[in-house]
Amino acid sequence: MNHDTSHALFERARALLPGGVNSPVRAFKSVGGEPFFVARADGAYLHDVDGNRYVDYVGSWGPMIVGHNHPKVRNAVQDAIGNGLSYGAPCPAEVTMAETIARLVPSCEMVRMVNSGTEATLSAIRLARGATGRAKIVKFEGCYHGHGDSFLVKAGSGALTFGVPTSPGVPKALADLTLTLPYNDFDAATALFDEAGADIAGLIIEPVVGNANCLPPREGYLQHLRALCTRHGALLIFDEVMTGFRVALGGAQARYGVAPDISTFGKIIGGGMPVGAYGGRRELMQQIAPAGPIYQAGTLSGNPVAMAAGLAMLELISAPGFHDRLEATTHALCDGLEAAARDAGVPFTTTRVGAMFGIFFTDAPTVDTYAQAVVCDTAAFNRFFHAMLDRGVFLAPSAFEAGFVSAAHDDAVVAATLAAARDAFGVVAA
Ligand code: PLP
Repeated sequence: MNHDTSHALFERARALLPGGVNSPVRAFKSVGGEPFFVARADGAYLHDVDGNRYVDYVGSWGPMIVGHNHPKVRNAVQDAIGNGLSYGAPCPAEVTMAETIARLVPSCEMVRMVNSGTEATLSAIRLARGATGRAKIVKFEGCYHGHGDSFLVKAGSGALTFGVPTSPGVPKALADLTLTLPYNDFDAATALFDEAGADIAGLIIEPVVGNANCLPPREGYLQHLRALCTRHGALLIFDEVMTGFRVALGGAQARYGVAPDISTFGKIIGGGMPVGAYGGRRELMQQIAPAGPIYQAGTLSGNPVAMAAGLAMLELISAPGFHDRLEATTHALCDGLEAAARDAGVPFTTTRVGAMFGIFFTDAPTVDTYAQAVVCDTAAFNRFFHAMLDRGVFLAPSAFEAGFVSAAHDDAVVAATLAAARDAFGVVAA
């Protein structure tokens, strides 16, 4: 493949954008090499500026669940922009969006639109703190909730010790308020709440972790966290920025039958436009300004073009059988990858939840903890990533990101992916 134009653009980008990108993972730092620059996207494919085509399993990191450039979403945006781009005053689509979210996700009795997943999670923990009058937040190793200060924290020597900032610029005093737990560990959560429950405002979790590869919850784990939060008067926050409308129409909370107090969303509800949202019980959401005293605002929040894209997207994915078809695609893909790895003699396994999947270079039969994910063979993943890219398949450029399928990933696309994978596993084995 020729990448001359991408290479020249990356050189120019590096002169002006930190690392040459506007979001770190795009820079290919963890897999090595240079990113390609996208000229256009259609269905299951990205087309780069050098004329190469890639089957895309990143899907703009989640929003593109109906495939790229879907005509219904594009037409909705085109119709909306004819009426102006932003009003700074309420518009009808914001009401329809809130009604749609509340219908699809019943735990969200009220909703506030924001502009990104990060804004949604920041606002959710402010609400949790404001509503409970408590300061501490619990999060999980391997979960990502955007780049808010309170989330860029890892565990000290034990969950109960003070959190340690993972980025310069995060004040130690703030990191002290974030407690970190191992995901899928029942006893660690119980012990933490027994010790510190009275100080905990909220526990935030990706109900299916998509930022440490893809880690499904163990049976009963989300119910266990629900019970702990209820018992100790802390709020349960599901960060469904990735899982929302993807692992089921009603998100992970519908799939696993656990109702959080607050939910955060992003990605799919914008259909590719910059959007996020948070919602929850009425009595909590009524405390948000201007209904209540907890402040949160946004100049572009509820933007009419973004609402139009998101509503078109939510209508498309509400079609009966939509998520079942995606799940079948995920299974066909993951079963095929496992078979190809076996044939090549490469230790490998997958995880799948709805339209999300994880690939792990390990001889463990399955992976569902962060500790297991981090000991997988990342060098093998990086070789596989590049071998697939050379064969026209774009996986997330990090061993610690989930993959996504879309409705545009039909049988032919999966078959082409598996043909590439058979070669690529051979490269890994060599
Ligand atoms: N929460 C989760 C689970 C995410 O995966 C992400 C981003 O990938 C975020 C929050 C932050 O969203 P954004 O990048 O839109 O700020």
